[in-house]
Amino acid sequence: MPAITVSSILELPRVPAPGLDQLPRPVRSVTTAPSGFEGEGFPVRRAFAGVDQRDLDPFIHMDQMGEVEYAPGEPKGTPWHPHRGFETVTYIIDGTFVHQDSNGGGGVITDGDTQWMTAGSGLLHIEAPPEELVVSGGLFHGVQLWVNLPAALKMTAPRYQDIRGGEVGLLASHDGGALIRVIAGEVAGHAGPGITHTPIALAHATIAPGARMALPWQKGFNALVYVLSGSGFVGAERRPIRMGQLAVLGAGDLIEVAAADQQESRSPSLEVMVLGGQPIREPIAAYGPFVMNTRAELVQAFEDFQAGRLGVIPTTKRELPTDNQPGHQVL
Ligand code: MN
Repeated sequence: MPAITVSSILELPRVPAPGLDQLPRPVRSVTTAPSGFEGEGFPVRRAFAGVDQRDLDPFIHMDQMGEVEYAPGEPKGTPWHPHRGFETVTYIIDGTFVHQDSNGGGGVITDGDTQWMTAGSGLLHIEAPPEELVVSGGLFHGVQLWVNLPAALKMTAPRYQDIRGGEVGLLASHDGGALIRVIAGEVAGHAGPGITHTPIALAHATIAPGARMALPWQKGFNALVYVLSGSGFVGAERRPIRMGQLAVLGAGDLIEVAAADQQESRSPSLEVMVLGGQPIREPIAAYGPFVMNTRAELVQAFEDFQAGRLGVIPTTKRELPTDNQPGHQVL
């Protein structure tokens, strides 16, 4: 589990110990992510499946990619595909992904890096392992999150943020047992590097066996906890939660997550993504790689894509496959 780690967590700034007047948020639901395949066939868990969109707002979709140990020749990516109306945030914990988009954005992200791509008015996108990794195989693990854009920003110009792992905000829990990496927004007054269009916070935490994390959380934000690996407890009622499960929390001051005393040897700590934001509260018309407000806007997006108005594929060996149909879920 490379992501970003530190030699001494105790030297990091600490999240303040929770006050007696601060209420931990209760658990509203715990759901288990179904497994599926993405793009050219890499394994994913659909973290938000079965959860009401209103509870996820301002987020749309999240995939845990892997964790998978590829054999030589096996690593897979996606074909070229379009996006419009939202942002894709790709956080790589282990392994390497190469991104490219028709707007000139792109780069290599590895071990703790994040690519924050605002599709806005639209672009074409490809995500794939580098050729040397296809040859060698190896460990691959990451997350892709879709962040919605409000109507006023759906047609904003595309933007690309390349966030290196070393730039994330690092914090320790009050008990010193959890490492918190703030990727975007602010946690306990410590900001992450990601620039967001609407107020959100996104963090990855590693919680040692028996440790407890209590994060102060904006009152107006929703609060989601997704377990990448390990097992523990979440919310005011210490509800059990394990790998591949998502907790939706209700109102309160703190997000509480604790790691079970015993963890499996393959994942010695509890690994969670913690995220929330100011709900946008607008109608959503989403289909495949487009997230708009109305059905007419979706039809327009398909027409623009088919007319080449979302961009053209830069000079490349790869071809747009004929099976890239609307409705096929592509990252
Ligand atoms: Mn994509």
